[in-house]
Amino acid sequence: MTLRFGPPVVAIPGPSIMPDRVLEAMRRPMPNIYAGELLEVNAEIFAGLGSIARTEGESFVTISNGHGGWQMALCNTLSAGDKVLVCESGRFAMIWGDMAELSGLKVEVLSGTDRDPVDTAALAERLANDPNQEISAILIAQTDTASSVRNDIEAIARVVHDAKHRALLMVDCIASMGCEQFEMDAWGVDIAIAGSQKGLMVPPGLGFCWAGPRALAAYETAGLRVGIFDWEPRMNPQAIYSQYSGTPPISHMYGLREAMRMITEEGGMEAVWARHQVLANAVRAAVGSWAAPGAIEFNIVDPAYRSNAVTTVLTGGVSAEELRVRCETNAGLTLGIGIGGLSEHSFRIGHMGHLNPPSILGTLGTIEAGLIAMGCPMGGSGVAAAAEVIAKSL
Ligand SMILES: *Cc1c(COP(=O)(O)O)cnc(C)c1O
Repeated sequence: MTLRFGPPVVAIPGPSIMPDRVLEAMRRPMPNIYAGELLEVNAEIFAGLGSIARTEGESFVTISNGHGGWQMALCNTLSAGDKVLVCESGRFAMIWGDMAELSGLKVEVLSGTDRDPVDTAALAERLANDPNQEISAILIAQTDTASSVRNDIEAIARVVHDAKHRALLMVDCIASMGCEQFEMDAWGVDIAIAGSQKGLMVPPGLGFCWAGPRALAAYETAGLRVGIFDWEPRMNPQAIYSQYSGTPPISHMYGLREAMRMITEEGGMEAVWARHQVLANAVRAAVGSWAAPGAIEFNIVDPAYRSNAVTTVLTGGVSAEELRVRCETNAGLTLGIGIGGLSEHSFRIGHMGHLNPPSILGTLGTIEAGLIAMGCPMGGSGVAAAAEVIAKSL
């Protein structure tokens, strides 16, 4: 029997659930791109983008996914043969490193595990052992979406500054922007990158790149510049066509403006982060309650480093694939597959963006029903524990 014939819920870690308001804002005929309303939409977007990453620096929007943001960051600041240090803590910084290598950069990996954050002491030691400052950039993800770790970017930035190292600190916030506190200027991050389809509640198709003064200075000598991503023409607010390197992504711009208005209505980034914190706490309470030897377990060992955007759950001897199929086919809930080295015995719960207690409790309750149906050993009811957490905020 299947019970899936209601509204499907997709709880994968991106794309996230899109608000109807955003989808409706996107559905409109194409306007003139050189005059009229679109210019106002564009001005509103660019006026607000800095406040999302909390920076007075430049904001750039690429017509791409997050990968385009990655590429934009590299090619506008670095030259062939420059060395980048990739901080491993799951999959995503490593894939960014592969892109760097293909672009002609030298890549060194500060190795890490799938279950822990980047080791700040190891980073400090590596920078101290770089007397000629050969490292030009440090690549790190705030949340790695495979492992669901939350790296402490404030602490990482402090390490880079204390080392008085020239390397640019580039942070992949694709999973975490709009879910997790991020303070680009206050922490001293040089480049931040995001994508539209996760915490920012807009369908995939936009990449974001924010650049601070050190990154903009590096642009002056960058040898890897690529036409479509080049910063200079994009910095001309009078010319929408060059700001987007061609025809602007009109539908997405309307959607983004609506999503940004929703963030403002909620009370700004602090309110959005606070909601994600409570809902993520609820997810963690559920997983913690389900936990049992040989079965459910958190992937990220230290509770202080678990992401507010996604949770990777290990399933021990229990088949994560069977759980996923049961939830999707019989209950209309799509869970994220485990990726990287974590594929078979793990699944991921995305909790990013347009979510509230009914959506998160529905997801957790459905997972719990799936686990019960499979006879999975369980410590206790995750739903009850999650409701306790949410109750404190009601
Ligand atoms: C989703 C994600 C990416 C990839 O983004 P795309 O939009 O698929 O290019 C990169 N890094 C992190 C941390 C992500 O969560």
